Amino acid sequence: MEKVYNFKEIERKWRQYWIENKTFSAKSDGSRKPFSMFIPPANITGSLHMGHALNATLQDIIIRFKKLKGYNTLWIPGTDHGGIATQNVVEKLLKKEGRTKYDLGREKFLERMQQWKTETDSAILDQLKRLGCGLDWDRLAFTMDESRSKAVKKAFIKLFDKGLIYRGKRLVNWCSRCATALSDIEVEYEDEKSNLWYIKYPLKDCGECIIVATTRPETMLGDTAVAVNPDDNRYVKLIGKTVKLPFVGREIKIISDYAINKFFGTGAVKVTPAHDAVDNEIGKRSSLEAIEVIDTSGRMINVPSRYLGLSVEEARKEIVKDLEALGLLVKAEDYTHSVGKCYRCSAKVESLMSEQWFLTSTSR
Ligand SMILES: [Zn+2]
Repeated sequence: MEKVYNFKEIERKWRQYWIENKTFSAKSDGSRKPFSMFIPPANITGSLHMGHALNATLQDIIIRFKKLKGYNTLWIPGTDHGGIATQNVVEKLLKKEGRTKYDLGREKFLERMQQWKTETDSAILDQLKRLGCGLDWDRLAFTMDESRSKAVKKAFIKLFDKGLIYRGKRLVNWCSRCATALSDIEVEYEDEKSNLWYIKYPLKDCGECIIVATTRPETMLGDTAVAVNPDDNRYVKLIGKTVKLPFVGREIKIISDYAINKFFGTGAVKVTPAHDAVDNEIGKRSSLEAIEVIDTSGRMINVPSRYLGLSVEEARKEIVKDLEALGLLVKAEDYTHSVGKCYRCSAKVESLMSEQWFLTSTSR
């Protein structure tokens, strides 16, 4: 026996033996109790890391232990298409070549994704083989193969029939670079130095103004109310009055809502239900219209022609300039606030209305 354990020789020998002899292939067998596991399929975004190695080793210990205890064991290997995460990796590769998915077009992009899948998939499976995992290689699965797709459909229909899955237009976190909705945990917040703009909103037929403070002057084009705290004595007399929204000319009401912080800015804020989560809730409570002014590519829509098609940043600059020219900009204070960014690509996340499928935990 060699003094030092020669893993290269020994592991290769046994790995081959297990695979060739189908040591871990399972057959249904009425006489023994079954014990089965599915490997949490790794995303095909790259190769496995130390975390996967630990994870797979622990499962390997379990399956071998059960096998020794006399169970009819089955451990199924598989990989996960990883959806947007994988798309993002392939897009980064394309970027290195100076191209985008739009240059390629849908079909060529899918081909490129498939090519990536084949390469990464085999690297991941080889890694699991090298680890000596006691997997049933005859039952290799991929999250997008036919039987898995069928299972997804079946589960979807079942949940839909129970009323747990429904479709609706709701406010979501949107990354316009990835062109996808993000869940709350996929948004990362970063502090950003910006401004708090104080803007005069003229009251209808009286020559007076109410001053709102905002970090998003460009979304004012989608405002459908101005809100104050009901306990704010400064504004009580103004609740119910009408404001004429600059640039748009829309008549909107001054409403009251306990969500408004009396001590933020002037205590009066603009309400844009289509582009802010808090405003969306206020909008629901006061039955406000949600007017969308930013589209899924991060450009201005449903706005006066001089702002139409501008990016959010461009529109902000223009609006501030125009407010200043009209004498409606009171001041711009330095202000640091946290801005949501896409955890995959770091682009700024926009709140907007989007038709999506939602899953609820209670029957509707
Ligand atoms: Zn993104």
